[in-house]
Amino acid sequence: MTTLRQIDLRCPVCDNEFKSQSVVSTNAFGGKRTDFHERAAGTQPLAYLIHMCSECGYSAGEADFTAPTEVSPILKQQVLKELAPLHPSPKCGSEKYEAAAKVAQWQGMEARHVADLLLRAAWCCVDEGDVEAERYFRRHAAWKFEEALGAYDAVPREERAILSYLVGELWRRIGDAKKATKWFESVIGEVVDLQNQQWVVDAADQQRLNPREWFG
Ligand SMILES: [Zn+2]
Repeated sequence: MTTLRQIDLRCPVCDNEFKSQSVVSTNAFGGKRTDFHERAAGTQPLAYLIHMCSECGYSAGEADFTAPTEVSPILKQQVLKELAPLHPSPKCGSEKYEAAAKVAQWQGMEARHVADLLLRAAWCCVDEGDVEAERYFRRHAAWKFEEALGAYDAVPREERAILSYLVGELWRRIGDAKKATKWFESVIGEVVDLQNQQWVVDAADQQRLNPREWFG
């Protein structure tokens, strides 16, 4: 099972002190979906790995609250202008990750990092049973991963095959078979070490021809 504990956080943007829930331990006994979404038995931990200030809506991982790097005046302004008016009260995981993705973007983080937060927002939507929002976040995650793959040197060579597979799987789950096929077919050309990456090639073939929802 997943164990949570209450933590006290201070917001680096507005100085508000608030309580949040954090993950002490979890498990992966729930299996892994073919978009790498790991499931726990019992409570899903994902929504508790990200925290949102109850006053201004600033959202980030625990370390960004406990040992924050300098928050620039511009970031502060953007949070207060764009997140604070959304009246952050207890929010579900997807909303926290959506806000965190905005913050990461304002901080000038790499596209891949922003994409990862958007993917997590989509995964939370699966737990929340919100199919529309899930598709919305998958689309935005796919675009951001595509941006990362399109930028020179933003993704290490040895990770391009797996990210290309993931983009294909995102489009497949969105329902765009054409884009999914294109990305799955690109995987083989991105392989740099066939021995260690054969499984990615196999997964791409499988998802293109005879898709499964779960690994294993
Ligand atoms: Zn705040």
